[in-house]
Amino acid sequence: MPAEFHNVIDGQLVPARGGATVEVIDPSTGQAITRIPRSDAADIDDAVKAAHRALKGPFGKLTATERGRLLSRLSSAILAHQDELSELECRDTGKPMVQARADIAACARYFEYYGGAADKLHGETIPYAAGTTVMAIRVPHGVTGHIIPWNYPAQIYGRSVAAALGAGNCCVVKPAEDACLTPLRISALALEVGMPAGAINVVCGLGSEAGAALSAHPGIAHISFTGSTQTGASVAEAAARRHVPVTLELGGKSPQIVFADADMEQALPTIVNAIIQSAGQTCTAGSRVLIERPAYDAVVQQLSERFQALVVGRGHDNRDLGPVINRRQQQKVRGMVDAAVADGIRIAGQGRLADDAPAEGCFVLPTLLADVDPAHAIARDEIFGPVLVAIPFDTEEEAADIANGTDYGLTAGVWTRDGARQFRMAHAIEAGQVFINNYGAGGGIELPFGGMKHSGYGREKAFEGLRGFTTIKTIAIKHG
Ligand code: NAD
Repeated sequence: MPAEFHNVIDGQLVPARGGATVEVIDPSTGQAITRIPRSDAADIDDAVKAAHRALKGPFGKLTATERGRLLSRLSSAILAHQDELSELECRDTGKPMVQARADIAACARYFEYYGGAADKLHGETIPYAAGTTVMAIRVPHGVTGHIIPWNYPAQIYGRSVAAALGAGNCCVVKPAEDACLTPLRISALALEVGMPAGAINVVCGLGSEAGAALSAHPGIAHISFTGSTQTGASVAEAAARRHVPVTLELGGKSPQIVFADADMEQALPTIVNAIIQSAGQTCTAGSRVLIERPAYDAVVQQLSERFQALVVGRGHDNRDLGPVINRRQQQKVRGMVDAAVADGIRIAGQGRLADDAPAEGCFVLPTLLADVDPAHAIARDEIFGPVLVAIPFDTEEEAADIANGTDYGLTAGVWTRDGARQFRMAHAIEAGQVFINNYGAGGGIELPFGGMKHSGYGREKAFEGLRGFTTIKTIAIKHG
């Protein structure tokens, strides 16, 4: 591990102008592993200017096909460096190595997908007045800002940067101070495969400094933000003052709805996996399980046994789950569980810490809470940890009401063999993605993704994600 990582600005690896740095902690051990720049508004300004030069210069002159080929080359380079990148992701986030490897593969897949899609983004012609030809063409926004969180640094970087470049934008990325090593390293790899200087710039630093400076920069034409609902609102507010469009991918409190006729062999392992992946720090974590009353006791019992078998440990040891990102998050999650227990909510199952787990690791035991009132805070607020709440229901209508009874609307899972009910529930649930008899936790790269209500707006992933990084220019030519 290098002693220090640098920003990527204008094709160069550079420290923050002011020379300040931030320590990077491995949450599995609590030990410092390297340092990253603590950048400020001056560094953001350098990056935005470099991106504008690239847009007017070498990157802007590429054809869509050439852009696509560059993205495909970067995809191959990411896969060729999968061992190195997975190591960075595992140590930076604490997630089990097997999940870190999957995240790097997903990042490569984004560049592959948008590499192939870049020259298939068409506008349209529109019948209008006699002797006039009207074209609505898709044009890139210009220089796009990307503020990404610490839970999936490589994946979320791939999701928004690959789409933005594919659509012809140049990017300034502000990754999270808690985990930003893979965005830095992949952006350096991009230069090695021929990405023009300034097309991708990555500026590390604190949200209140570098992040706020990016949101407010007059040279940014669109912002893609993923993170907390509260920060998302402040980013959107800063962008609104400059009339700049924003895509917000925020939090969730996603329900998994289990009817008594469900195939439990399929449902239960998927439900457990959807709350322990990345130690529950996934915006699409299935954090509420709603169970039809006749099956309630048996399902809670089986989930409880599965929770008790879960082991938490260092990312490198590939236990069922790793630590949460930092001490603050550990205290927040534990505090929410303690408050629920103090209110009389029952712990129905809990995993255990591996014997060799370092004492200083930021570990949280996966916890199943049962018989939870859907109105209780633990059933409504995003926990962002490996905590699942079980809630009984009697009717389809009640299940939909409980599912829709939070501020969020990101993803939902429904488990039933009844075909008509599958459709009724899919239509009744307020969520950007509904999975029936499976749960994609964010879904495949090919599926449009995004939230309703406080989970955000705009869509990423899929072809829709590419369109989101363009705007429409209408050209009407009167030729008689
Ligand atoms: P956050 O939303 O504050 O951070 C996300 C990104 O925004 C980071 O890059 C951060 O540096 C940046 N940021 C922070 N303040 C900013 C500002 N004023 N202007 C511009 N950018 C800013 O998230 P957090 O504080 O790291 O975590 C807090 C909670 O957010 C978590 O407990 C969790 O509930 C939630 N969260 C959700 C997601 C998600 O994917 N939905 C991801 C991370 C965190």
